Order: sequence, then structure tokens, then C-alpha cells
Amino acid sequence: GEIIACNLEMEKGGNEKNDIGLAFKEIGTGISVSFEKYTSYYNLRNLATDFSTTLSLQELGQLIISKTAELIPRGASCLLFLVEQESGNLSLAASERVEGEERKKVRSGTLFDFWVLRNRQSLIVTDTQKDFRFDLEKVQTSSEIRSLMVSPLAHEGRVVGTLRVNSLRSSAFDTDDLRLLDAVSTLASSAISNSILFQKTQELAIRDSLTGLYVQRYFLERLNEEHKRGLLTKAPLTLLMCDLDHFKECNDRYGHGVGDFVLTKTAEIILGKVGDGIAARYGGEEFSILLPKSSLKEGCVLAEAIRVALSEMKLMIRREVIPIAISIGVASMPEDTLDSEELIRIADRRLYQAKNSGRNRVCGEG
Ligand code: GH3
Ligand code: MG
Ligand code: MG
Repeated sequence: GEIIACNLEMEKGGNEKNDIGLAFKEIGTGISVSFEKYTSYYNLRNLATDFSTTLSLQELGQLIISKTAELIPRGASCLLFLVEQESGNLSLAASERVEGEERKKVRSGTLFDFWVLRNRQSLIVTDTQKDFRFDLEKVQTSSEIRSLMVSPLAHEGRVVGTLRVNSLRSSAFDTDDLRLLDAVSTLASSAISNSILFQKTQELAIRDSLTGLYVQRYFLERLNEEHKRGLLTKAPLTLLMCDLDHFKECNDRYGHGVGDFVLTKTAEIILGKVGDGIAARYGGEEFSILLPKSSLKEGCVLAEAIRVALSEMKLMIRREVIPIAISIGVASMPEDTLDSEELIRIADRRLYQAKNSGRNRVCGEG
């Protein structure tokens, strides 16, 4: 009887040992999961500092992607798309670990990224071939990606981009991963916002507020750069100095507001003609245009095209056509000089020759 009782005790003890073993294992897994989470959140804390190291959108994009790939190592590839302002398209800004065939395809966002853009919330797809929210035929033929997460990037309340992590196997990510990606994209959003605002301020500082053309200071900086480049590469460089004819009369007759309107329209015509050239509002009603890699002759042809376009522009005020004419002086490197200040002086001199010989004309010699 005692032996039977002892055996029963032993069996009970064995079961307890098994139970404790299982519990121990579970706690072990729990600890390593917690540790993994702790590491992730610890890394997140440093992310904000990392993202504040650059204001260049390009550098920032690359940084966001590499940090995301580090934090979510289970992803096969990691992509950042930004909304193009004019077209509303999502274009690839940075990517990591995108291999082979996939690389050729990912110039712009897919239906998953557009879903996030439209719904303004993050997305997790555990199996791309079984998710009926999406057009499955398109998904199946378009890629080998089996699961993915996408999180929106916001600026001033609008979604300006998406951050995506892909995997080639299904169910690669869980809600904890998505939470982590969301945390990264929140930090990335504020860094991107800063960078966009910085770029806007820089643009404002170099653009004339009335016409949107460059200001003189920036134009002269560019002239110096292009001058150096021209000397190094032996490429020609042409400068156009333009001044509206009798603009004071236009102001006196129609008012300052109409004068401003004429300046804006003149800038539009110039911008439409210069192509890769650099156009600036040099002063009140004076404009300057820099044409890298263009000869004196090419400069004169463009100047004449601008002059004709302006004289043919029919701006109507009170049923009257406002007469608009412009005089332009053209000078070129190396034909006229190799010195950048001299280039300005020659173009200026020719502009006044154009004025003196009757206005509404182009002068490229003398
Ligand atoms: P010219 O053919 O010799 O160049 O004659 P002009 O009247 O164009 O030359 P002038 O230099 O005497 O006058 C330039 C005028 O441009 C004077 C000024 O009131 C006007 N102006 C300069 N900046 C602005 C501006 O921002 N808006 C307006 N509406 N007028 C401006
Ligand atoms: Mg003037
Ligand atoms: Mg004038």
C-alpha cells in the first residue's frame, strides 16, 4: 500500500515538474519578447535625434529607410514614397534591400500605398493573395510580396508620403511591428515637416515675391558658379539684360497695380522661353537671364523671341491694349570676355545701346 502511495506521489511530482518546466519556458519567451520590445523602444528614443541631423529631404529619406530596416529586420525591403505636388503621384524617395525584378518596378507607389494615402491610416496585409480589400488579380501579377505594412507620413494635416516594409512570406508582421512602424513614421513625419518648411523658407529667400523669378543676389551667385563652370568646361555662357520700355508711363497712365500685372506677365513670358536658363528680376522693371552652354548667337535668338512675344502680348485694360516693349542687351563668354563682371558691363552697355537706338530691340554687339 505504501509503495502504491509513493508511486502516486512520484507521478504527481512529475506532473508538477512538467507544469513548472512549461511555465518556465513561457516566462523565458515572455522575457525575450519584452527585451525585444524594450530594445525597439529604446532605439526609437534615439531616432528623433538621428532624424534631426539633416534638413535635406534626400538625406533624410535615406536615413528614415535605413533606420526602419534596422528596427524591423524581418522586412525583406523597405520603401519611402513622397507625394508629388503637381501630379499627386507617389514617387520613390528612398529604398533599401529592394532586389532584382522588384527594383525596376518600384518607381512609384502601389495600390497599398494609395490605400493609405486615401484612408489616412496605416495598413497591415498579412497575405497579399488573400486580402479581399484589394484587387487580387492586380496584386498577384504585380509582385512576389506576400505581406506588408504601410504607415502614412503627415505634414500640416495632409498625408505627404508613405513608409512601407515588405516581406516575401505571409504573416511576417504582427500588430506590434505595425505599432513600431507607426512610431517611426510619426517621428519621420515631424522631421520631414521641418525639412519641407526649411526648403520653403529657402525658396522664399531667393524668389521675388511679385514675379516668382529669382532675386538679383541669387542670380549673381549663380552667375559666379556658371562662370567658373564655363571656364573649367570651356562651355559658352550668355547673359541677357532686359529693361521694359517707358514703364514709368505705363504706371502713370494705368496705375501701379496694372504696372505690377505687366511685370508678372513679362516674367511669365520670360519663364516660358528660357528653358534651362536662369531668369531673375534684376531690379524694378529689369530682368536678367543667364544661359549656360549657349553662344552669343543663341542668346540673341532667344532675346528676339522674348521681345516679339512681349510685343504681341495683348494685355487689355479698359478696352485698351497696353503697349509693352522691351529692350535687351546680350553678351557672351568667351566671345566678348572671360570675366564675369565684364560680362555684366557689356550686356548693360548693349542694353543702353538698344534704348538709345529706338528701344524695343535686341543689341548683341558694339
Ligand atoms: P526706359 O524706356 O528708359 O527704360 O523708361 P522707363 O520709364 O521704363 O524707365 P525708368 O527707369 O524711368 O522707370 C522705371 C519705372 O519702373 C519707375 C518705377 O516706378 C517703375 N517700377 C519699378 N519697380 C516697380 C514695381 O515693382 N511695380 C511697378 N508697378 N512699377 C515699378
Ligand atoms: Mg530701368
Ligand atoms: Mg525701363
